[in-house]
Amino acid sequence: MSINPTEMLSAKVQAMEESATIRMAQKSRDLASKGVSVISLSLGEPDFDTPEFIKEAAYAALKRGNTKYTPVPGTLDLRKAICDKFRIENNLQFEPTQIVVSNGAKQSIANICLSTLDEGDEAIILAPYWVSYIEIVKFAGGTPIIVSAGIEDDFKVKASQIKEAITEKTKLLIFSSPCNPTGSVYTKSELEAIAEVIGANGKILIVSDEIYEYINFSDEHVSIGSFEKVKDLTATINGFSKGFSMTGWRLGYMAGPGWLANACNKVQGQVTSGAASFSQEAAALALRTERSEAIAMRDAFLRRRDLIVSKLCEVPGIIVNKPLGAFYVFPDISYYFGTSNGKVSIENADDFSEAMLTEAHVGTVSGAAFGNENCIRLSYAASDNDLVEAVSRIKKCLESFK
Ligand code: PMP
Ligand code: GLU
Repeated sequence: MSINPTEMLSAKVQAMEESATIRMAQKSRDLASKGVSVISLSLGEPDFDTPEFIKEAAYAALKRGNTKYTPVPGTLDLRKAICDKFRIENNLQFEPTQIVVSNGAKQSIANICLSTLDEGDEAIILAPYWVSYIEIVKFAGGTPIIVSAGIEDDFKVKASQIKEAITEKTKLLIFSSPCNPTGSVYTKSELEAIAEVIGANGKILIVSDEIYEYINFSDEHVSIGSFEKVKDLTATINGFSKGFSMTGWRLGYMAGPGWLANACNKVQGQVTSGAASFSQEAAALALRTERSEAIAMRDAFLRRRDLIVSKLCEVPGIIVNKPLGAFYVFPDISYYFGTSNGKVSIENADDFSEAMLTEAHVGTVSGAAFGNENCIRLSYAASDNDLVEAVSRIKKCLESFK
């Protein structure tokens, strides 16, 4: 006798899509393990090491025996450091009781969705969106409502579109700025217009994912929660993965109304408990230290953005915008739909991404996973050499697609 997985696995899990970013990164690794020289621009992960002083703080914490459970929402010291950061950098006022530290910003978002959504509740998600929003919302029982913007609008949704999408069932509005996958940054006035709409409604919670805050090439980072109208209607998400290059440390956090923090704390207390103790100690120091390392990484990303955008502009048929943040470009590759190199055909963005992996040995992610069927995402968190070589391979490969 053996278990039939289809009978055993929950409908919820069977309906869940695997993360496309993680899948494509694995496919690139699999091909590389067969001896193929693959350049993977699929996973969104800074290629820099964690700054030395943060690692030193973790070693010291471990040596001192800081190896036990912490309070579920994070140590008081880290939550105080987070409150100070919000006050100084984002004009946001929080008490430590309004902060919940989690195993990555991904868990912070999941905690909020699990805390707020019941069957049939709607979550408006601005597209292009980060892959996991949709699946987390569905897993929590909610219904994703997608509101999209194309490349002609720099992939930024207008407040009027959000207003039209709101129904009696809307509970959440979820988006990231700087945005994964487009790199677009909503301006202060664009955010203010969205705050007007949500403030006037008064019953919707904004989930503002600001994990790329420090990788911003525009003049300023604006937290939507700093607008008075939505101060009590916003959960601000941030973390250490991107700005401090600490993806493997698994540390993110949410800040929001006390009732929401209490609910996230309850969910997390039953599922995972607090994040790693020594990670938290080192992270508090990272927040209290000036941002020179984050700024140096941002400057490197800016240089690479210019490099990859200029190279992509040389590829016939590809349309590329100039992102103002994060470390992704999201070019429109629909020019190649309906073409073939005699071996493989490209009918859509999934085919394009697949063809670039198998024919050009460059890992990318199809825009379909992010809610845009005409684009692909390339992460430029890679060396200059790899970026130049990757785009040159793509260009050469596409010459044979007629
Ligand atoms: N939000 C966005 C927009 C992301 O790109 C990511 C991917 N790292 C996350 C949240 C989750 O980050 P982490 O769980 O590593 O903190
Ligand atoms: N957020 C990154 C990305 O978009 C890491 C992978 C993931 O967590 O999805 O590629």
